Order: sequence, then structure tokens, then C-alpha cells
Amino acid sequence: MVIDNVIIKKVPMNILKKNVGWIVLIVLCLVPLVMWWPLIPMSLRFRKPVNTLTTITQISGLIGMVMFAYSLILSARIKIFEKLFGGLNRVYLAHHQIGGIAFILIMLHPLSVLAAYAPISLDLAIRYIIPSSDWANNFGLLAFVLLMAALVITYYTKLPYEIWRWTHKVLGISLAIGVLHTLQVSSDIKRNAPLRYYYLALIGIALVLFLYRSVLSRLLVKKYRYKVKSVTSPVANVVAIEFSPLAKPMTYEAGQFVFLQLKDKTVGMESHPFSIASAPTSTDLRIVIKSLGNYTAKLTAIQPGTEALIEGPFGRFNYTHYQFTNQIWVAGGIGITPFLSMAQSLQDPNYSVTLFYSVITEAELIYREIFEQIAANNPNFKFYPFISEKQKRITGDFVIEQAGYDITKTDFLVCGPPPMMKSLREQIHNRGVSYGRIHTEEFTMN
Ligand SMILES: Cc1cc2nc3c(=O)[nH]c(=O)nc-3n(C[C@H](O)[C@H](O)[C@H](O)COP(=O)(O)OP(=O)(O)OC[C@H]3O[C@@H](n4cnc5c(N)ncnc54)[C@H](O)[C@@H]3O)c2cc1C
Repeated sequence: MVIDNVIIKKVPMNILKKNVGWIVLIVLCLVPLVMWWPLIPMSLRFRKPVNTLTTITQISGLIGMVMFAYSLILSARIKIFEKLFGGLNRVYLAHHQIGGIAFILIMLHPLSVLAAYAPISLDLAIRYIIPSSDWANNFGLLAFVLLMAALVITYYTKLPYEIWRWTHKVLGISLAIGVLHTLQVSSDIKRNAPLRYYYLALIGIALVLFLYRSVLSRLLVKKYRYKVKSVTSPVANVVAIEFSPLAKPMTYEAGQFVFLQLKDKTVGMESHPFSIASAPTSTDLRIVIKSLGNYTAKLTAIQPGTEALIEGPFGRFNYTHYQFTNQIWVAGGIGITPFLSMAQSLQDPNYSVTLFYSVITEAELIYREIFEQIAANNPNFKFYPFISEKQKRITGDFVIEQAGYDITKTDFLVCGPPPMMKSLREQIHNRGVSYGRIHTEEFTMN
């Protein structure tokens, strides 16, 4: 439908669309609870404090393990979840958040056992938290200790990413041992076949995907082979690497990202996510990286000819996925990379785009000439460099006034430092723009 020269695509309710992944996930996590609930009359479940605490033990154990399993499934980088959550980095955020809820529920499991039995007999209660000849309980303890150790490291320490990634692999082992506990203790899961089959099928899928992603990824995960064509430094602390394909090139949409692994011992074989900064029409890939930590700081040492393995493409941050063809794009610092790809792919004359590129000093602007060239050739593309040392902070009001679009029919795309994205999102929303039309790309997976 066209109103005032703006194309309005029939896109389902944005908010629902943005949260469909979570809605599906919550329903899937509640299914076992619905299967478990009618097994015993409610009156019996909460008759006395010990019954209530036992019910809490059962629910926290069951839903905790189910959420733990879904958290592992989400981290396997399966494409369908990307569609549901609107990009892999959002899938990882959900993985992180549901993992956190599982952490709390599984902690509640032994605590409610203690609370249930301590008033009856402290000896009996303590027997549940110390190793003994009762292997059903020992499995529970071991799974619990492994899970707590791995998640305390994740949520409360700042280990170098690569070391942290290894500690995280313990989670698969903890889940496997946790199942042994579930199947050996006397439980409703053991007694009720449909619940047991649902539970085992889910845990089975989670463990297979854990093996696929965390143990056998070198063998099983599809990666494209490229080689480094050139390494340049457009500005200080930023390196631009051009890759040419060694075999079938990867096809991708503008705005997507990949996991890059460089076969170079000095840099290390780690795999890191980076947005693709080249146009989808080119077979060569360009990735532009800001030196932020111990891996990215080493990349200037990369030599042409170095082989690279590229997994992807991932991500849903692309202007064609949104409702309106009037769009305001705001980039902060290295957050310009997905827009570099999108601007180069902008052929459709129906789109009117204004790109604001915010940096602290003028010297930090990268590929200014490319954006100015596109603006010169495309009257519907406007490019605004924003130098915060001169112009202070970029604001929602500023981009809206400068672009001059009817904001009731405009989509906003923002990528940059998290604080900038957060404040711009609020400012634009306060101008009456629904969150469903403010699209952000996070350069973090946690
Ligand atoms: C979707 C996406 C697109 C990105 N695009 C770009 C880009 O175009 N240009 C750019 O310069 N940066 C980009 N990044 C950020 C980049 O991945 C990190 O800056 C880089 O991984 C930091 O590694 P480091 O070892 O140098 O820093 P560290 O100090 O080890 O890590 C800094 C932070 O980066 C994250 N990180 C580190 N290693 C990894 C990893 N292997 N996988 C996932 N996250 C990790 C962690 O959150 C960590 O806290 C992107 C990130 C994401 C999620």
C-alpha cells in the first residue's frame, strides 16, 4: 500500500513479531508443567508445609532442567531460532536469560528439599546434600555442583572469552548427569510415561546439539573457506580485512554477520562474530574490526594469504525486513559496519534513508568517501557524519528533525555502543515511535 509516497508493507504486529521467539519458548517450557500438574490432586500438593515444599522441589527440578535443556538448544546456532528471535545475537541473549532462570530454579531444587526435611530431621535433610552410597542423589549433587560452578563463572567472573568458553562446555556434562539423577530418584517423571518421553526427548535433543556445537563442531559445522587478500588500517585501532573465496563463496544479505576463524597461531584459532561490511553483490568479503580486547588487538599482524574459516551468515538486521521504506539509520563508532554493507546494497528507489554516523573525533570516521559517493548517486540516501566532540551527544530529536520524515511511517535502525543504543531507543520511543519500529543490532552475545 502506498500513502504519501511511502510504501507500507503488510507486516504482522511488530511487538508480537519481535517476541514470538520468547512466546514459543515459554509455551514449550510450560508444556511439561501442564503434563505434570494433573498427576496428583492439587489438595494433596499443598496440604502441609512439607507437601508444599516437595511440590516446589518437583516444579523447580522439572522446569529448571527443561529450561536448562532449551538454553543449550538455543546455543547451537540453529537457523529456525534466528527467525523466531530476530537474529542470532538475540537467540544468544535468550540463551543467556533462560540459562539464568534455570540457574535459580535448579538452585531452589535442593534448597526446598532441605527446607522440607530439616524440620522433620536435620540428619535426613543433610543426607541429601552430602555424597553417600545413594548414587541417585550423588548424580544430583554432582550435576548441581558442575552447573553452579559453570554459571557462577559465567555470571560473576570476567574470564578471557576463550577460557570462559571452555568452562561453559561443562554444562553439557552437567545436563547429562542431571538426567541420571532424574531417572533414578523416585519422581513423577519416572512414574508418568508421557512426561518421561517428553523430558527424555527434549534432553536427548539438547545433548545431541551440545555435542554437535561444542564437541564436534570442527567436523560437523559447515564453514566457508576464504583467504586474506589484504589487511589495511582505515583509522587508528581499526583493521579492515578483505577476504577472497577459496571455494564456493558464501551468499548473504546486507547487515548480516559471520563467525570468523583465522588459521594463524599468533592470533589463535578462536571464532569471533563480526558484521560483514561488503556489499552482497561482491564475492569478496570485507570485515572491519575495532581493537577492543586481546583477540582483536592482534589482528593487525594478519598477513595476506592467511586462510580463514567463516561460519554464517547470521542475523536479521536488514532494512528490507522492516515495515516502512522511510528509514533513519544511526551508527555509533564501529557499529557502522552493517550499515556499510546495507548502504552499498541500497538499489530500490522506493527507500528513503538518512544515515547518521556518530564518532567522537572526525579522524575516527571510516569509509566516509563510500557513503558520500552513494549519497551523490542516490538522491534518496542522505549521509550525516556526527562528531560528538563538536556536536555533543547525538539525540533522538536531532535525527528525527534532521531526517524530516513523518515518524509515524518511519523505521529506525540503530547499531553502536550499548549505552548509546539504549538512550536513543528511549528518546525515539518518547517521540511516539513504538519499540516495534526501533531495530537494534547488539555487538554482544551476552
Ligand atoms: C553480531 C555481532 C557483530 C559484530 N560485528 C563487529 C564488527 O563488525 N566489528 C567489530 O570490531 N566488532 C564486532 N563485534 C564485536 C566483536 O565480536 C568483539 O569485539 C570481539 O569478539 C572482541 O574480542 P576480543 O577478544 O578482542 O575482546 P575481549 O575483551 O575478549 O571481549 C570483549 C567482549 O566481546 C565479546 N566476545 C569476545 N570474544 C567473543 C567471541 N568469540 N564470541 C562472541 N563474543 C565475544 C564478549 O562479550 C566480551 O565481553 C560484533 C559482535 C556481534 C555479536
